[in-house]
Formats: sequence, structure tokens, C-alpha cells
Amino acid sequence: MSKTMKQVIMQGPGEALVVAEGQVPAPGKGQLLLRVRACGICGSDLHWVQLGLARPGTVLGHEFSGEVVEVGEGGEADWKPGDRVTGYPVMTCGECPACMAGDVKACPKAKGLGLGSRKAQGAYAEYVVVNANVSVKIPDTVSWEEAACIEPFSVGLYAVKQAGIRPGQNVLVVGAGPIGLAAASWSRFSGAGSVLVSERSAHRMKLALQMGADAVIDAATEQDAGEAFFRETGTRPDLIIEAVGAPGLIQHCIEMAPKGGRILVVGACMEKDVILPGMAISKDLELRFVVGYELRDFKFALEMTGQGRIKPGTMITHRVFLDGLPAAFEALKTPADQCKVMILP
Ligand SMILES: [Zn+2]
Ligand SMILES: [Zn+2]
Repeated sequence: MSKTMKQVIMQGPGEALVVAEGQVPAPGKGQLLLRVRACGICGSDLHWVQLGLARPGTVLGHEFSGEVVEVGEGGEADWKPGDRVTGYPVMTCGECPACMAGDVKACPKAKGLGLGSRKAQGAYAEYVVVNANVSVKIPDTVSWEEAACIEPFSVGLYAVKQAGIRPGQNVLVVGAGPIGLAAASWSRFSGAGSVLVSERSAHRMKLALQMGADAVIDAATEQDAGEAFFRETGTRPDLIIEAVGAPGLIQHCIEMAPKGGRILVVGACMEKDVILPGMAISKDLELRFVVGYELRDFKFALEMTGQGRIKPGTMITHRVFLDGLPAAFEALKTPADQCKVMILP
């Protein structure tokens, strides 16, 4: 098939994205060609562009859902045109021991799809090629847009799983961006006691209350979120999840944490940051960093969405077409009331 499509490509570091024409890619062995139906803009996409981590000409977009239009060699038994699909955004070899075991994160040839590799162009486009072995069929009860929210929700699920929340434990989530909201949702799902979210934006605070938080702490006016947590609940957070990724916040979490507390960092701060290890040591704190998720987390998040037990679509605040993507992307550099911006190619 030699057809053209609309896509949005990255230029130099910090430059605006541009709408361009490209070739509709052909699915290779073990791959699927999707007509993209929805794709979320992720904070890490902004990092990639701002820091110039990918080469000019890259198509970003790793939070997608789409309809199968062509099935590559070997996939005919499991897939057909018209299937509704979302998936783990990675191109793997599909043949190594890690791939065979479903541990796609460990495939030595794994390339993040829409994460900066021009060999695995992303879904800021009308069409995208994905790996069949990490694709998942979308239940009828889940919309295209909700399916495109499964990716960030899997990040939140993995974080909460790694934190090992036990029923009744109290959780403070710092930041109500998509990952913070996902972490609050999964904390509630996992039987946490009190779940509080600290956040500056009034709009995001409202979303936090809709997505599992018992109360919100206004980070713009509240000097000490730990004190506010105590005022609200009469206790201290057993677990603090840092989901912002700005300098100073890990130290802030160390200051707020009670003796023996745990801090889990999922917000990716791309600058140097300073902490006071002595304070963390004197409190006997556990500090842990997490990234990504496993394929089974992705499948579980989709299944729970299908059963209506979590509602990832609630975090969508804005929708744009591909033509409006460059402007929406620029606007996110100084975020106002956006949370998840969904592209409808
Ligand atoms: Zn993402
Ligand atoms: Zn492999």
C-alpha cells in the first residue's frame, strides 16, 4: 500500500511540532497497521522535545488506541481488520526468550514506540505500525479515548504495586497530573485508608476528588502538606508518592514523611536535585524510584476499565485534531487547567 497520511513530526530541540505528510507504513512480520483513533499527549513527550532527546523527523505518541487495517505476516490467526486495539508501546523482536516469556521490557532489541526512535514512529499520525505480541483487544465497554488512557494508568498501577500498599494504609500523592491521578485511583482500588492529593491547579484538584482522593491539599497555599494531611486525617501518610518531577520535591517528601515512612518517586525530574540524606536517615525512610510497567499491568488496567472499576477517561480535559496538535503542545509548556489532552487523528 503506497498511500500518504497526515502526521505530526518533531523538529529541533524546543521547536514547535509541525503537521507533515508521510507514507502510510507497511506492517512487517508480527506487526499490525492501525488507523489511530485516539492518542494522549504525555509529559514525557514534552521532555523529549524540549531536551531534544529525539532526532528531527521523529513522530511521538505512545498512548494510543486504533483499529486494525492490515495484519502483517503470521498474525492472521489472531487478528483481523476492524479489531479495536491498544498496546504496550514498544517494538520487540518477538522471538527472544524474554519476548516468548511475555517479559517485553527485557527484550534486548526493544525500542520504545513513539518515544524517540525513528525506527518505531509513534501515533501522532493517522496510521501507526505496532507489534502484535504486545497488542491487546479493547473490550466493547471501553471507548477509544479511555483505551488511550490505559498507558499512563499502567504507570500508576505499577507504582502502586511496587509500593505494596496494604489495606488501610494512608497515602499522600504529590501532584494530580495523569500519573498522580492514576496513582490515587489505584491506591483507592488497592484498599488504601485515606488517599489525599496535593496539587496547585483547582481544576486538577477537582479531578483528584473524582478519581479516588478523599480530600485535596492546595499546594499553592499550604506550606506543609504533611501538616495538612494530619489536620485532615489525624494521622501521617504511610506512603508518599511523588508524581510531579520538579527539583526540591523529593526533599519536600522527606520533610513530610513520618518516621519509618516510605517515599515512591514516579515523577521524572530531568534536572539535578538536592536532598538531605541525614534527615532521611534519621527518619529511617525508604526511598524508591520506579519506571514503566509490565504487559500484565497494561492488560489488568484495561480489564478493570472494561468492568467499570476504574475510570481513566475522567482525566481527559481537552481534545484536539492532528492539525491542532502543535498549538496544544505549545500550550502545555505553560499548563493551565489541562490534564490529559487527547488527540483524535
Ligand atoms: Zn506516557
Ligand atoms: Zn525479544
